[in-house]
Amino acid sequence: MDKAILKFLKNTSGTIEAISKAPPSDDSFRKLMKKIIVEEGEKLKDVLFGQDMIIAMKAGYKNAVLGYLHSAEENNRFLVERASLSVFVKNTTEAYRKALEKREWHKLVDEGFIIRSGGEALTRIRKFSGSRDVNGITIYFAGRPVCEKHLKWEDYSISVHELYKELGMKKKKAKNEISCKYCKQEAKYFTLAMPKASALIALACETVGKKPNSLLKIYANLSRVLHPYGFTDLPKEKVFTIWARDLLMILLEINQLLFPCDFKHSSRGSNNGKSAFHFLKYRKGREDGTSDVDGVS
Ligand SMILES: [Zn+2]
Repeated sequence: MDKAILKFLKNTSGTIEAISKAPPSDDSFRKLMKKIIVEEGEKLKDVLFGQDMIIAMKAGYKNAVLGYLHSAEENNRFLVERASLSVFVKNTTEAYRKALEKREWHKLVDEGFIIRSGGEALTRIRKFSGSRDVNGITIYFAGRPVCEKHLKWEDYSISVHELYKELGMKKKKAKNEISCKYCKQEAKYFTLAMPKASALIALACETVGKKPNSLLKIYANLSRVLHPYGFTDLPKEKVFTIWARDLLMILLEINQLLFPCDFKHSSRGSNNGKSAFHFLKYRKGREDGTSDVDGVS
């Protein structure tokens, strides 16, 4: 590989800082990226929302070749979102998938059933369940309590009684301590809340025991490319290298999310926030059948 490109792939700084250092891409690097997208697509095809992730990579490639950085990076951001959504739904409840299919997700958000941050959700889960374990039961505690009269979203709600029964716990709190979001009467149900993108990323990481900070950082960086900067005046050869570096960093992160078993021998967090170059090493290890990437530096 071209030395300047290789050096750039070892750079882990934010997209905005890295942009000025990006070397132009060449034919062999573009071919390599095409090959990687095909390989990753093969792994993703049976994963929940895998088709969306494949589309994000392909559309990102096309836009990067044409020199449209904001469109290419928007696809990278979509890839992060979909991978997180996939892991989050798989490890919590199908009800979230239903909310998407029925296009009711945004209606719940409009009525205030929203998780604004991972920390907010974990605090609520700990408050009501006594642990920070995020699963198909405890995720309801990150939602909002409602009384019998104010129960509107039955498909996305479970009774307080049933939740504690599932957990094998007696409700510790005094009777009126869990009160309805609307009228402060005793709540009988918890209705799921819909996580914002950053909360989704944090909670997806939490369900597989991965540190969320580097994925959150990548997401925030991509958002800044789109707003306020835009970067519509870069030469297209450079645009490709910038997008590709971000995609490879994202692929390393979401492989840890989607296929945590591949990383089970590496200590927790040791692959967190690693470079695009590290992904290429991980990929090589996978090819050689030594998917354990612990020895990779
Ligand atoms: Zn009420």
